[in-house]
Amino acid sequence: MSSYITVTEKLPVAGRYDVIVVGGGIAGVAAAMASARQGKSTLLIEKSVMLGGLATLGYIVIYLPLCDGNGVKMTGGIAEELLWLSIKDSYNTLPDEWRSRPDKITGNVRYQTLFNGPSLTIQLDKAVKDSGADILFDTLFCKAVMEGDVCTHIIVENKDGRLCYECGCVVDATGDAGVFHSAGARTTTGKNFLSYWGYYTTLQGIDEAAKSRDITQAVKMFTLGSDCNGAGQPEDVPLITGDTAADINYFILRGRQEAEKFQLQAEQAAPGSFAYTGLPGMPQFRTVRMINGAYALKYSDSGKYFEDSVGCCGDWRYSGISFELPFRTLYSPDVKNMLAAGRNISNGDNEAWEVTRVIPVAALSGEAAGMAASMYENGSIADTDISKLQEKLSAAGLKIHL
Ligand SMILES: Cc1cc2nc3c(=O)[nH]c(=O)nc-3n(C[C@H](O)[C@H](O)[C@H](O)COP(=O)(O)OP(=O)(O)OC[C@H]3O[C@@H](n4cnc5c(N)ncnc54)[C@H](O)[C@@H]3O)c2cc1C
Repeated sequence: MSSYITVTEKLPVAGRYDVIVVGGGIAGVAAAMASARQGKSTLLIEKSVMLGGLATLGYIVIYLPLCDGNGVKMTGGIAEELLWLSIKDSYNTLPDEWRSRPDKITGNVRYQTLFNGPSLTIQLDKAVKDSGADILFDTLFCKAVMEGDVCTHIIVENKDGRLCYECGCVVDATGDAGVFHSAGARTTTGKNFLSYWGYYTTLQGIDEAAKSRDITQAVKMFTLGSDCNGAGQPEDVPLITGDTAADINYFILRGRQEAEKFQLQAEQAAPGSFAYTGLPGMPQFRTVRMINGAYALKYSDSGKYFEDSVGCCGDWRYSGISFELPFRTLYSPDVKNMLAAGRNISNGDNEAWEVTRVIPVAALSGEAAGMAASMYENGSIADTDISKLQEKLSAAGLKIHL
């Protein structure tokens, strides 16, 4: 930047909430539901106009497994509730073995499903409202106001202008640790391959769907760019962090170039038979920024007992690998009244980040963060009564230890 101006602002305090959750993706939804269900006044702030984040707006419509791949359910609670909401009024590919929501099955088919993003969007509105939380759409989180290492207010901007909310405890579910970063807490950045996922349909698919009465033949996903290991990465595209405006703009425009190529190829193969039905409404970065938490989960922690575990999860890629998620991955020594949820919790290596960043684990960390936030009164979140937290999470349907 070449020059600066100083602006001093007097902002209206629009309200006070016990818990403010920033970011209405899967993690933020789970956090807001968990906190509001404990009777705490809870505000969920979302910059777009729909809940679900990457899972809805970003067309990432594969609900990865809630199980360990050996037939044992690892993650219940809100993660399981949201899986069922994702398929409530629409199609699914859930294996029959898991339809009665058992804790265990014989065999190793995984507890996962495809879902329809827009259908989940509608269900998330209802689930959050029913929990008692307030939602503020089209509202951008701008800044955390700090008094030492305590966040006292959250500054936002929306159609009413620039205003702030007083907070008891804050959950950062922005996907990029945006609130912790603003609070001056230490964070770590990731690297991303190019991704561009969405929906399309073809005349042939519509015919097949009509014949088979299977709508998924007509509602197809496209997954352009690279997979999470770099396969398919266009040669001219560098690895991108995703924490600058320039990165985000490059990523979005470069992704759409891939979409144009895909469409052209389809048009040439069968003119007039292809149409996009959904392009992503947010950049599809897997790992932007995470907190440097009180503990950073390592992939070698698989199978390890943690006294402060807040829940369990499997590895979506491999069978028989599972983790306990320590509470310490959800907070930073740098801020006393803030928790992380979703793809910005603390990981010690990329392999662990690969496990914790996906939808079911985002719901798990969201629920744990929301529950802990609901118990916060003052002092440091690090002093949370772990046994009480575990008791509440267990009562809400989460398995605490492997
Ligand atoms: C290409 C790709 C493929 C993937 N494949 C799968 C898959 O197959 N299955 C799976 O389970 N997971 C998959 N994932 C991961 C998964 O989709 C997400 O990581 C998961 O949904 C994370 O949810 P989250 O709530 O942590 O973050 P997000 O979904 O990113 O939600 C963050 C929310 O915060 C809001 N927000 C951000 N900043 C602000 C601000 N300043 N003010 C207000 N609101 C703000 C955003 O608008 C968004 O709604 C994939 C991810 C990518 C990118």
